[in-house]
Amino acid sequence: MSDLSITRIGQIRERLRRNGARPAHEQRILRLWSQAKPQNSGSRPLESFMPTAVREDLPGLSEDLSGLLRLQSEHHAQDGSVRWLLALRDGQTVETVGLPRDGVCVSSQIGCAVGCVFCMTGRDGLIKQVGSAEIVAQVAFARQFRPVKKVVFMGMGEPAHNLDNVMEAIEVLGTVGNIAHKSLVFSTVGDPRIFERLPLGSVKPALAVSLHSTQIKLRSELLPRAPQMTPDELVEAAEIYAQKTAYPIQYQWTLLEGINDTQEEIEGIVRLLKGKYALMNMIPYNSVDDLPFKRPSWERAAEIARTLHQRGILTKLRNSAGQDVEGGCGQLRARHLLGSKPLDIAVPNMTNMPKRTMIKLTVSPKKSTP
Ligand code: SF4
Repeated sequence: MSDLSITRIGQIRERLRRNGARPAHEQRILRLWSQAKPQNSGSRPLESFMPTAVREDLPGLSEDLSGLLRLQSEHHAQDGSVRWLLALRDGQTVETVGLPRDGVCVSSQIGCAVGCVFCMTGRDGLIKQVGSAEIVAQVAFARQFRPVKKVVFMGMGEPAHNLDNVMEAIEVLGTVGNIAHKSLVFSTVGDPRIFERLPLGSVKPALAVSLHSTQIKLRSELLPRAPQMTPDELVEAAEIYAQKTAYPIQYQWTLLEGINDTQEEIEGIVRLLKGKYALMNMIPYNSVDDLPFKRPSWERAAEIARTLHQRGILTKLRNSAGQDVEGGCGQLRARHLLGSKPLDIAVPNMTNMPKRTMIKLTVSPKKSTP
């Protein structure tokens, strides 16, 4: 019987168990689904090992799982990435990005409570949690079109604010989903809860930490509702996780012209990360007409990366994937919802912000962090 309320892996398991599935049957069904293979794959006929009730329910279950997401639009970029806007069953949309070199970037929330001032997704606060089955479905969707060997949780949302669903999805992807543990990348602004939970999971993902500033005040203005961890506390907790898992921490730094591309920040990064098991990813901001931030020149970004490198910080300068197709997270969805309507953006009072970007000096009230 069709069950349109399925959004979580646990619900799939419950349905299978009600029909008499044993753990091996559950794992097989989740494996084939997450790898976008048909449920009758393999040489043995299902009749020879699958309980009748499970077998009879399989076509309906497969239909329910493929109905978790519906393609709304598709945008190919010159770098080989592709952005999909996918509608959930209730009509809300998530962005999923197929990345060059067999990666996929998934969304874990619709909207986001952190409210980073340079991000379209954070503009309206948290709208909805994405269920664990809906997260795995994004990978299964991508696998219909391209190989997927790496899954990064860097799409819409803060994974730490939807931890149960994200951990459940990571467990499936890192076992039957055939993704190496270190190729699952949990991207976060930092939250004490993840440093408690991640080390306890059977699948331990790699960690990417969005730092963006080494200064407490500026960072809290850029990421207004990130949990109250100072950059020092964040790096200290992340280093313990890096040593435990033997994967380096990937620090993310969106370079904003005149804001966090300063000499002071270079000194702060060297102080915080020197000697740490870490990699710094610098990504020049992808300018959006509706937001008042500017992308620094590539020469300036390269100079910062070179300086950090010379001072002992392993640094990579990257472009965000899909630059030419509404690059940053949430931009595609925002365009879809708003058409070309200009946005009313409140800009925080950043002391070192260049004059031309000082449009409004208030931080707009947003929903609280869950
Ligand atoms: S950058 Fe990430 S954490 Fe910040 S508001 Fe956007 S989705 Fe949320």
